[in-house]
Amino acid sequence: MHWLENWLLPPRCVLTGEAAQTRDISSKLVEQWPVPYGVCPQCCEPSFESQTCGACLTRPPAFEKTQVGFYFDKELVDLIHGLKYQSNPAYARILGELLAERLSVDNIDAILAVPLFKTRFRSRGFNQAELIAESMTKSLAIPLIKGAISRVKDTPSQTHLNAKQRRKNLKNAFAVKPDKLVGLKSVALLDDVITTGATMQSLAEQIKQQTEITSIQAWAVAKTK
Ligand SMILES: [Zn+2]
Repeated sequence: MHWLENWLLPPRCVLTGEAAQTRDISSKLVEQWPVPYGVCPQCCEPSFESQTCGACLTRPPAFEKTQVGFYFDKELVDLIHGLKYQSNPAYARILGELLAERLSVDNIDAILAVPLFKTRFRSRGFNQAELIAESMTKSLAIPLIKGAISRVKDTPSQTHLNAKQRRKNLKNAFAVKPDKLVGLKSVALLDDVITTGATMQSLAEQIKQQTEITSIQAWAVAKTK
């Protein structure tokens, strides 16, 4: 029935309103969004000839690989802000589909969405990362495991903090329920945006300490430059 629906109700770009092709976001816009290139495979920071960077060699993060769809730039910022601050959960489906297309996925047993602190979850009504992950499970056929990780420390806006302060702020910020992760060896942590990677580091560190999981990837729709 999908073709009939498309014929009767052609998809429209949620941002520009113009007729779109297969998805309700203009592919002309998406093609112009900058994509990380020449970056370290482990942390996604710029590196020489896309090799593992000095920082990762000296102090390896608790996650082995970072994959992001785009840089946090252009209209993608509107989509992510629209999802989080204007309660447009439908944007999560688009973001999930766009990210799923760009990932190279093998050997991932499950996806875990980076959790929100309970007061933030209550005021927003949803966890944007979990909604994006739900959309991705459809195209990637990897299960999303809910309730295995939670945020036990409120870390309000970290935008004014540098990388070191963020790491300190995030120490033991999460709680892990190992019984929900039994039998898993390799997982992907999903967030909407990666800034310094401090959240992923803290979470990955705690997961590896408390479970049998040996391999963790950090996934996000976008990375700040
Ligand atoms: Zn690196």
